[in-house]
Amino acid sequence: MKDKDINQMFLSIGIKNTKHRRDIIKILDASNKPLSVEEIYLLLKENNSSINLSTVYRTMEKLIEKNIIIQNNPFNDNIYRYQMCKDKHRHHIVCIKCSKIVEIEECPFKDFEDKIKKETGFDIENHKFEIYGYCNNCKKNKE
Ligand SMILES: [Zn+2]
Ligand SMILES: [Zn+2]
Repeated sequence: MKDKDINQMFLSIGIKNTKHRRDIIKILDASNKPLSVEEIYLLLKENNSSINLSTVYRTMEKLIEKNIIIQNNPFNDNIYRYQMCKDKHRHHIVCIKCSKIVEIEECPFKDFEDKIKKETGFDIENHKFEIYGYCNNCKKNKE
């Protein structure tokens, strides 16, 4: 995401446009997998950001509250990870052993959502879905 688009997004939801917020959005937007707060913090540090961990937590809370990012269910390791909400609807397959995360291109729930919508009358906003198994590496070591 470009600065211009991020500025526009902040403007449209009415939150203050700060460098820290922009930096976090950029990191999540560029990532092809959900990231934990610690991972985001380390990436910010790599980019020479002066941000501290508690600011990252506070900023994340704000972005979740505004539905810009969503929190994923913790995988086997009990760590919460986050990803961009819009345009980044993805599912993941997670290795039970080494916590490796691979993105799944397709979302299998389109028709299912329509069905649920008809049945319940809900307007469906989002869903979460993850698959667990053993990655190629761990599969070999298992045998
Ligand atoms: Zn593995
Ligand atoms: Zn989906």
